[in-house]
Amino acid sequence: MPFQARSITQISEASVTVDPDKCIAEKGCTVCIDVCPMNILAIDAETGKAYMKHDECWYCLPCQKDCPTGAIQVGIPYLLR
Ligand code: SF4
Ligand code: SF4
Repeated sequence: MPFQARSITQISEASVTVDPDKCIAEKGCTVCIDVCPMNILAIDAETGKAYMKHDECWYCLPCQKDCPTGAIQVGIPYLLR
């Protein structure tokens, strides 16, 4: 049987999580959305909180660093640490 390498996406985990209790998007904050170069963050119309729309994160971290309430956690995949 030929060797099959596991892809990085199978090994890594979902990258960006937003703590809804800390996110103040409903008060007009869009900092993380504005700083993300990949344009993958958005405001969820139902919850009014920020969330990761597409999993194409570059792990560049301005969203986590610039969030005024510390609501964002970027989980760097094991293979990139
Ligand atoms: S920067 Fe922080 S508080 Fe502002 S919308 Fe993003 S997660 Fe919410
Ligand atoms: S780490 Fe970078 S690419 Fe990933 S969500 Fe944050 S700003 Fe966007």
